[in-house]
Amino acid sequence: MDYAATLLSRLPGASRRDHGLRNLIASLESYLPPGQISMIMQAYEFGAAAHAGQRRKTGEAYISHPVAVAQNLAEMHLDAQAIAAAILHDVVEDTDASLDDVEEKFGAEIAQLVDGVSKLDQIQFRSRAEAQAESFRKMMLAMIGDIRVILVKLADRLHNMKTLDAMPAEKRTRIARETLDIYAPIANRLGINRMKVELQDLGFRYLYPMRYRVLDRALRKSKGSQRQIVKRISEEFSKTLSDEGIEGDIVGREKHLYSIYKKMAEKRRTLRDIVDVYGFRIIVDDVGNCYKVLGLVHGLYKPVPGRFKDYIAIPRVNGYQSLHTTLFGPKGLPLEIQIRTREMDRVAESGVASHWQYKADDPADATPQRRAREWLANLDELQRSGTSEEFLESVKVDLFPDRIYVFTPKGDIMPLPKGATTVDFAYAVHTDIGNRCVAAKIDRGLVPLRTPLENGQSVEIITGRGAKPNPNWLTFVRTAKARTAIRQYMKQMRSSESIDLGKRLLDRTLKDLGSSLRKVGKVRMKAALEELGLKETSDLFEQHGLGERLAPLTARFLLGINAEGVAETSKASLVIAGTEGMVVSYAKCCYPIPGDDVMGYLSSGRGVVIHRNCCGNLINFRKQPEKWIAISWEKDIDIEFASQIQTDTQNRPGVLAEVAATIADCGSNIEQVEVLGRHEDCSVLSFLLQVRDRTHLAQIMRNVRNMKNVIRVSRDCA
Ligand code: MN
Repeated sequence: MDYAATLLSRLPGASRRDHGLRNLIASLESYLPPGQISMIMQAYEFGAAAHAGQRRKTGEAYISHPVAVAQNLAEMHLDAQAIAAAILHDVVEDTDASLDDVEEKFGAEIAQLVDGVSKLDQIQFRSRAEAQAESFRKMMLAMIGDIRVILVKLADRLHNMKTLDAMPAEKRTRIARETLDIYAPIANRLGINRMKVELQDLGFRYLYPMRYRVLDRALRKSKGSQRQIVKRISEEFSKTLSDEGIEGDIVGREKHLYSIYKKMAEKRRTLRDIVDVYGFRIIVDDVGNCYKVLGLVHGLYKPVPGRFKDYIAIPRVNGYQSLHTTLFGPKGLPLEIQIRTREMDRVAESGVASHWQYKADDPADATPQRRAREWLANLDELQRSGTSEEFLESVKVDLFPDRIYVFTPKGDIMPLPKGATTVDFAYAVHTDIGNRCVAAKIDRGLVPLRTPLENGQSVEIITGRGAKPNPNWLTFVRTAKARTAIRQYMKQMRSSESIDLGKRLLDRTLKDLGSSLRKVGKVRMKAALEELGLKETSDLFEQHGLGERLAPLTARFLLGINAEGVAETSKASLVIAGTEGMVVSYAKCCYPIPGDDVMGYLSSGRGVVIHRNCCGNLINFRKQPEKWIAISWEKDIDIEFASQIQTDTQNRPGVLAEVAATIADCGSNIEQVEVLGRHEDCSVLSFLLQVRDRTHLAQIMRNVRNMKNVIRVSRDCA
């Protein structure tokens, strides 16, 4: 009794006539050691028990499906973990067995693979747009940490396609389209040619049954008539190779329906043009022989100019390597020749999968990470040997992505940078959604707004009427769009703060005059706005808040007192660079003037308050550095500022008047004089005066200092 039969006889649930299982065991025996096969058989027992009683639409026991999936991977010689995961790939989703059960029985690695496949099953492809399909493919690749997950998934899809007849017509079309849009391109991306070709042909067959049938019939017919020619040319090549002592296999290449169909559709060629081309593949032992054989076939038949491609020196983006050439064959028939080594052929058929194939000399504990690294290192070598940079880059982007892909409630896919939160998502959907978001749901569960998103999640944003962005969001958002939008909003908020402030200022001034905004009334206000050339009361308030109008003047204007001389725009907000739209005021403790070194303090009620760097209040800077901003003066400022100087003068009659006259001579107004101290023969006076800038003040101080009765002039901390 052979090994397969022994195993079968030991499996309680398995029937001796179970061809699927029998074939699988035979395939596994060809490359795996017995210990690993019996582990896979345990997985089979577990899966068969879990799926017991379930049937496929085809009527077969459900377990036949995972076995077929495993069979496909066994034909690619994938390692035992991948095969076991293939057998168990539906148990977590479709049976009572849990992921913990799988992990307990088969270990973390297999459990992780099963989990990965289940997660891929959960994401749904909903829209048909091309860009959407591209994003979806990227999302799938981004979701898998282990390439074997996608291999199981592709094999799963392949078997489902093979049994698609059992499905209702409408479902067939949807699945076929998804296969062509998503799965075949992924297989292609990863260089798994054998799967790509099958997925494409099956997808084509179910999406366009009529076209498929017509093409299939035509191709069969031409194959029959070509058989003789193919045989003759193969023998010719064979003889030439053996004459030169080169060992090689020559195969007539199969043409695939979908690629023929696409060529006809895209290049507008007739079926005849395409099928009348004969394809051959010559497989030899080493690279040197590839080029030797190229020379030999070029000697046999003339090459078609411009058709030679050296994909050995410069591999294709999915790692494919081969020499391609086209010859004028007998009677001018075009012959398409591919020449490559056995290793290249293996890679051409299995692509990425070839790096997860079982190797007897491999330590059994090779981790997926290590293999991924090896694979990348391998690509790196290809790269150095002249592969286009694009290759490595695209592969890295696909398999080690820095982006994640999530769903909107409508099923659209939204790409975001890794680490993006629900707030980033909200702003990516629309700025308004971001500005008004109050809560978020991930996969229907409420989460805090700062929650980072993961691939494949469905995200829903809950907005609130009148909700506004929180400056605190800036600490966790990742996207520039969110950050910019929040900052922009904060700026607008400042404008609304200015409106509030202006309104309060005006109302208070009106009250001082025995009135109020309410008492002024809408009619008068409307007329006043018209006269001032303003549209809204909020504009008027804002101008006050920004210091562009003076409340006492406007109040008088509104009340009809001294109606002339409404404040000109004072340009106060243009004095400090970068404070456009902010309320700016000047600290009364240090009286900064243009030319002084200054800092701005962000005060919640009063906008930015400007202090001199030497001001004692800057001690607070150390306590709340986040509230202090670096600022500088604008260049051309033509308004006046309050400044303060102190003088020590001799106690002589008329001294005060003399000093005041000197200051006035310098073009400055004195707003206030205070006597700070009076000693026996000396007085300390403080002047609050109007100056343009530091130069102006310096000139005043110099002139005052030069006066006969003045002992000292100083400015605080100057
Ligand atoms: Mn399945």
